[in-house]
Order: sequence, then C-alpha cells, then structure tokens
Amino acid sequence: MYNSIRIAFALLAMISISNMVSAQQQIPKNHVNPWIKPLGALPPIASLTEGEWMKGDLHVHSSYSSEGGYDPARHPISKIKAFAKSVGFGFIGITDHDNHVLGDVAHNTWADTAFKDNTLLMLYGAEWTTTRGHGNTFSATPYDHQKFYDVRDQRDADIAKVKKELGIHLSANHPAGPKDHFGFSYDLVDAMEVWNSCQWTRNANSNLIWEDMLASGRRITARGGSDVHRPSDVNYIGTPTTWVFAAKHTAQAVVDALVNGRVSISANPYAPRVEFFADINEDGKMDMMMGDNAKSTGKPIKFRVELKGNVKADSTYTVNVIKDGRKFGSYKMAGSNPVVEFTDTPKLVERMYYRLIVEGPSTDYPQVPRSAAVSGNMVALSNPIYFNFDPHF
Ligand SMILES: [Zn+2]
Ligand SMILES: [Zn+2]
Repeated sequence: MYNSIRIAFALLAMISISNMVSAQQQIPKNHVNPWIKPLGALPPIASLTEGEWMKGDLHVHSSYSSEGGYDPARHPISKIKAFAKSVGFGFIGITDHDNHVLGDVAHNTWADTAFKDNTLLMLYGAEWTTTRGHGNTFSATPYDHQKFYDVRDQRDADIAKVKKELGIHLSANHPAGPKDHFGFSYDLVDAMEVWNSCQWTRNANSNLIWEDMLASGRRITARGGSDVHRPSDVNYIGTPTTWVFAAKHTAQAVVDALVNGRVSISANPYAPRVEFFADINEDGKMDMMMGDNAKSTGKPIKFRVELKGNVKADSTYTVNVIKDGRKFGSYKMAGSNPVVEFTDTPKLVERMYYRLIVEGPSTDYPQVPRSAAVSGNMVALSNPIYFNFDPHF
C-alpha cells in the first residue's frame, strides 16, 4: 500500500516536471510600464563655489534626555555648546528624546536659556522616540513638535501629512539597530544616519538599507551622528562629524544641504573631509558635486575626489568607489593635497549613482582620546553623485 502511494507521487511529480518543461515562457515584447516616464528637464545645478563647508554633529543628547526628569549633572546644553565651539563646529543638532517630556520639547530643550546662541547655528529638533523606531527632526525655526509626537503611532500616511504641514526635516536614526531600528516607510525621511557613533563597523546593515533606498530611486542623504548622552573619552560629540556645503551661513542653509545631499561625513572634527566632483561636458571644469543629479550624455564623465583639511602627507589613503551598490574601483591617494580622478560613462537612460568610502590612517582627537582607536581606518564617506534620477520621485 505504502509503496503504491509512493509510486503514484513519483508519477505525479514526473507529470508536473514534464508540464514545466513543455510550457513556454511568455515574455511580453512590447509591454510599457506606465510608471517609467521619460525624464523631463532637471533643475540647474547650484554653484559649486558660493557657499561654505561647515561641520557639526546631528545627534546629541542633553540633560533633558533623562527618564527621571532633567538631570543637571548629565550633559547641560552650555557644556555641549562650549565643546562644539572648541572643535570648530558651525552648527549642532541637540536632539533630546521627545518621549521623556511627552513631546513638549518646546518647553524643555528649546526653552533652556543656554539654547540660543550668537555664533553656533542651533537646529530646532528632537529625537522622535517611538515604538517603531527613532528619527531626528530638524528645522531652522521652532515648530509644533507636540503634533509630531502625537501622531507617532498612527499610519505612515497620517504621519506624512503632519510632517508636511509642519515643514520639518526627518532623518532616520540607527536605521538597522541593533536596537530601535527604523520601522517606518522611508518615504517619510529626507536623510539617514548611516554612521552612528565612532563604531563604524556597527553600521553595515544601515548602509545596506541606504543602498536599497538609493537603488529604488530615492535620493536620501547620508549623515552621521554620535548619539552621545553624556561625556565620554571614546564616543563623544563629533564622532563622527557631518560636513555640509551650505549656500549661506544660516540654519536654513544647513537643513537645505541635508536635503540636497551636499554632505560628507568624517571620523572626527579633525579628520580629513572628502569632496567629490564630476565634469559632465568634458571641458576640464567640474560641474557637479556630491548630492547633485544630472542627465547623462552618453559621453565619458570625469570624476574627481579631493581630501581636504588635516591630511597626513606622509601616508596613503584609499578611495573605494561604489557604483550602484557595487565596488567600481579602488584608488590610492597621498601627498599634502590628495586628489584622484577616474572616468566612467553612465548609461543614457537608467538611474546610476557613484559614492565614496575613504580609508587610511586615523586622525587623533585629543579631546576624545580613545575614539581614534575605535574608528580605526575609516576616514570619510561621501554622498552620491547621481545620474538620471527623477526629482519628482
Ligand atoms: Zn535612538
Ligand atoms: Zn539618540
């Protein structure tokens, strides 16, 4: 009895295999995907020279990030500001956990007499701390954060409506965890924390999510954040440091740069900054930088990588170029003004992007003496240069 059942099953399996073999794949020849439309004119690329590079940290907690109420001993805003100025920061995002004050950031962090400053650009924001994950909000001016806290457990479409109404920037924090991964739609976010804390190696999965989002057509800006809660000699303000190319010296220009992607990340405030340019019309002059998007011409594009600032002239740095999520090439650079150029021809129609990871000698950070050993040979990360991305995606 058992054997005959087995024979019957074997026969059935053979029949279904033979059916599969005899069936033909029907691949439609003239199918048009209505979602894929020809790319219209792209907005002009902003000036590569009118503006300034400013550095800062976009994920810092103060004494207000305390479950038991304000803790003056922990991390007062005055201390954060003094430290930020001592390492040459132009801006800072103090992003306290909003759940500790039930959303009322306006009457806590922002109302602190130390919060306003004449020289350091202070971004208004908070760490939106929810069941489904954390994200930093940023704004050049105060906004009704209570509304954003209140909508946190609703549908993503409702959250998107409130975010739009408030006109705020949202950046996913530590997107892949290991704790509190970002469990919302990435349609809600403008930027992502792809480098959280001095431990670069912990960010591998967050970088995978970022690559997925780029491949899907979303131009989500990568940024860093130390996520410090109290003084430390390993991970503190500036590990890592986020650089923005701001068109003006204003908080709004910093937020704008976080949207348009003219941003790179360095291991600490003294580590070299990577800049990434492309010459799209073969005239020998650079026409675009990281974050910028252009139509490809079918002709070769010359890319240029520069390391600026505190480079170690007697050491060699390695630039790893990632093209569409895959390694494109690896180049060595050295000297007091390290520069590398390479050429590639992006396809005429398809979306493509190029981005950089720079490795090399670590840079000492005397105020946070044990951080350099932990960040290791990770020096800097660029945002991508984009081709054929739809600005209306
Ligand atoms: Zn968090
Ligand atoms: Zn945090």
